[in-house]
Amino acid sequence: MTQVTIRDRRLRWPIPDYLEQRLQGGEVLATRRRAKYLLIDFQEGSLLVHLGMSGSLRLVSENDQPRKHDHVDIALDSGHLLRYHDPRRFGSMHWLDDPSHVLLDHLGPEPLSTDFSGDYLYRTSRRRAAPVKHFIMDAKVVVGVGNIYANEALFMAGIRPDRAANKISKARYGLLTETIQRVLTTAIEVGGTTLRDFVGGDGKAGYFAQSLQVYGRGGESCKRCKHQQLREIRQSNRSTVFCPNCQR
Ligand SMILES: [Zn+2]
Repeated sequence: MTQVTIRDRRLRWPIPDYLEQRLQGGEVLATRRRAKYLLIDFQEGSLLVHLGMSGSLRLVSENDQPRKHDHVDIALDSGHLLRYHDPRRFGSMHWLDDPSHVLLDHLGPEPLSTDFSGDYLYRTSRRRAAPVKHFIMDAKVVVGVGNIYANEALFMAGIRPDRAANKISKARYGLLTETIQRVLTTAIEVGGTTLRDFVGGDGKAGYFAQSLQVYGRGGESCKRCKHQQLREIRQSNRSTVFCPNCQR
């Protein structure tokens, strides 16, 4: 890696003015993801990137002319540029000298890892009287369960979203773990759920929206029991949709 070009530092937080110097001449050792953060590891530390709402990282040819909203280019020895593009500028870039950064502390397990289980959810929920939907969307409990996926997983597990987290049995948490993993795995396979201007790494829109069972279907009939209308409520200003017949 030889050169870093920053055209606009004004992301959600300003890009630190020492970033070019830290990246200069560094060798990429690994790339990984933790929750919504992308990490590019170097000998001396890690570059942490959050894509915000509309950010993307793409590999382009070094001859590719920058367009509007192409805020950062990192030139690689391969002759490619790693290009950060972000129209809304809600993303961020941080340099971490130490991997135990405040942004990564206290994050719960990854939902598709073996650390995430029914036993874990049961144990963690015993003192939580909050609704189970809030509980599974709390990144300190488990990362990566967004509003749409929480709605869908709770429907598939037959659990009412407004039921208190500490009133749910270990067996039902076992089932909920499976449905969260199934919903996320399916969504990843089809490229996510397209909302407005999001596109995946391949530049294509996601197709998960077509297979939603409850989200966005308030007032419509339940696909499972057929004769109930799905009920829509607001929880923490987010839409919650459930079937009063199938979810208890
Ligand atoms: Zn139903």
